[in-house]
Amino acid sequence: MENQVEEIKKKLDIVEVINKFVPLKKRGRHFVACCPFHQEKTPSFIVSQELQIYKCFGCGKAGDVFSFMEEYNRIDFKDALEDLAKIAGIKLIRSGKLNKEESIKKKLFEINKEAAKFYNFILKSHELGKEALAYVEKRGISLEIINKFLMGYAPKDSRLIINYLLKKGFLLEDLMKNGSFGKSQYRQGQTYDRFQDRLIFPQIDFRDRVVGFSGRILPGNTNANLAKYINSPETEVYHKSQMFFGLNLAKERIKKENLAIIVEGELDMISPFQAGIENVVAIKGTALTEEQLQLIRRYADTLILGLDSDFAGNKASIRSIELADKMDFEIRVLDLEGKYKDPDEAIKSDLKFFKKKLKEADTIWDFILKSSVKNYGVESPRGKKLVLVTILPFLAKINNLVIRSDYLRKVALAINSDEDSVVEEFKKYLKAENGIIPIKKEGKEEIERGDMRERLEERLMTLILRMRKPKLAIKKLEWRTLRFKKIGEVIKKLKKFEADRVVRKLEAELIETFNNLYLKAFEEQNTSEERKKERGKILRQIEELELKDRLKVLSGIIANLEASEDEDKIAKVEAQYAQILTKLAILQRARS
Ligand SMILES: [Zn+2]
Repeated sequence: MENQVEEIKKKLDIVEVINKFVPLKKRGRHFVACCPFHQEKTPSFIVSQELQIYKCFGCGKAGDVFSFMEEYNRIDFKDALEDLAKIAGIKLIRSGKLNKEESIKKKLFEINKEAAKFYNFILKSHELGKEALAYVEKRGISLEIINKFLMGYAPKDSRLIINYLLKKGFLLEDLMKNGSFGKSQYRQGQTYDRFQDRLIFPQIDFRDRVVGFSGRILPGNTNANLAKYINSPETEVYHKSQMFFGLNLAKERIKKENLAIIVEGELDMISPFQAGIENVVAIKGTALTEEQLQLIRRYADTLILGLDSDFAGNKASIRSIELADKMDFEIRVLDLEGKYKDPDEAIKSDLKFFKKKLKEADTIWDFILKSSVKNYGVESPRGKKLVLVTILPFLAKINNLVIRSDYLRKVALAINSDEDSVVEEFKKYLKAENGIIPIKKEGKEEIERGDMRERLEERLMTLILRMRKPKLAIKKLEWRTLRFKKIGEVIKKLKKFEADRVVRKLEAELIETFNNLYLKAFEEQNTSEERKKERGKILRQIEELELKDRLKVLSGIIANLEASEDEDKIAKVEAQYAQILTKLAILQRARS
C-alpha cells in the first residue's frame, strides 16, 4: 500500500487536485485561494507546485494532497486513498478479505450499534424506561438531545437485550467480546448485561461509531454497593485513552471556533451543548492523554479546561498539561469560583455567568498560581512554601523561556518575595527533579536577545529564499539559530538552488520549517527594492545584538580585572569597550 501512496502522489499534481474543490489562481510562483478551512476575504491559502504542498497562513492548515482530501472532505486516510486513486486512474490492490482483527472490530461496532438502538428505544418508548425517562427530563434534557446522543436505558432484565441481539444474528461469544456482558457466578453461568438498570450514554467516536458505553445509576437505586458510573472495559474498539465523548457532534463547531472546551463526564458535556455552547467534549477523569491531545489538535489550538477545580493537584493532570504545552496548545482554565460544583450545575443556574467565565478563562499558569495562593495563603512561611511546592513543577514544564521567566516574576509578586529567591528555589527544584541545568539568573535580558536574534534570522532567511541566488546571501551570516543554520548548510551545498531539492536533503523535522519559510517568501507582496532594504536593516540589527553581547562579556572582564588592580589591562579592555560602544552608536544612529 505504501508503494501505491507514492505512485498516486507521483501521478497527481496537487494543484490540479485542489483546483477541483477550490478554484486556484496563479500568483507569482505559487497558487492561491481563499482558505477553505477558515473564513477569510483575502487569500492566504497557498499551494506550491514545486513542493506539492499547501499551507494557509491564516489558520495554519498545511499538508500534502492526502491530508487535503482528508481535511476538505472530512474522510479518513483509507477513503482519501480510494478517491485519489480514482482521480489518478490507479487501481488499488485490495488486501482482499478483512483480516481477523478487522472482522472482530466490525462485529463489535455492529453489536454496539444495535445495543445502543435497543437502549434508546427502551428509554424513549417503552414502559420499562419510564423511570429513567422521567429522570432525564428532570435534568432538563430534551428529546432532541436524547436522540442526538442516542441516550438509552438498559432494563433490569438482561435477557431482553441479549435475546434481542441473538435474534439479530449475533453469537453469544461475540457478545462476550464486546465487554458489556458478563457471566454470572451464581446463576449457572447465565449471561447478564453489566449495564442493567442504568441510564446509557453510548460512547460514539469522532467517526460516528459506537465504541462502548457508559452507564449511570438512577437516583432511585439505593444499592450502596453500586458505582455511580460504570464504563465499558477496554476492547478492540473501545480505548478510553483515545475517546472524547461528544466529539462526533462537537467537532465542526470546535474547528470553527478553534477552541475546545473540555469537561469531565457526559452530563457536563451535554448541558452546555444543549445550551448552544457546542464546542465542548468530555473525558473521563481529569487528565488528557497524548492520543486525545493529538486527536483534538486537528480541530483547535486553544483548550479551555472545565474540570474538577483541584485537577491540577494530580500527577496525571500535570503530565497532560505539560504535553499540551509541548504541542503548542494555548491552555486556559474555566474557574467557576467555587460557586457551582460543575458546568452542568452552573449552566442550569446561571448561563450568563457560565458564558462570562468562559470568556474570562485564565491561562493555566495564572490559574495554578491563583488557586494555590488561595488554598495555602501567603501570610505564613509555610503557606509560601506550599505555593512554591505546587507551582514549581508547572513552571518547569513551560517550554518558552520568556514566558517562564515572566511567571517566575509573577510568583515572586504573588507570595511577596523577591524574584531572586524564587529563581533560586526554582533552580533547586530543577536540580532535585532531573539534574537539568537551570536558566541563568541574569537570563531574562539574554533570553530576550536570543529570542530577538531568532526572529531576525527567521525573517532574514525568508527574504533570502526569495532571492534568485540565496547561497551567497546565506554565506554572509554566521547563523546562530540551529534550524536556520542547518537549512543554510543544505542550501550552501547545492549546486543550484531548487526548493524540492532542499526538501530532499533536509532532516525530516526541518522540512516543515523550510516549507513554511519558502511559501511565505513568495507569498509576500513587496518589491525587490523593499526586500533588499529590509535585508540590510536586519543585518544591521543582528550586528547590533552581537555588539551588545560583546559589551556584556567585556564588562564582565572589567569587573574581574578591577579586583586585580591591573591598570594597564583595565585600560586596554576599556578602550575596546569604548570602541564597541562607538560602533553601536553609529549603527543605532543609522537606524533612526
Ligand atoms: Zn486557513
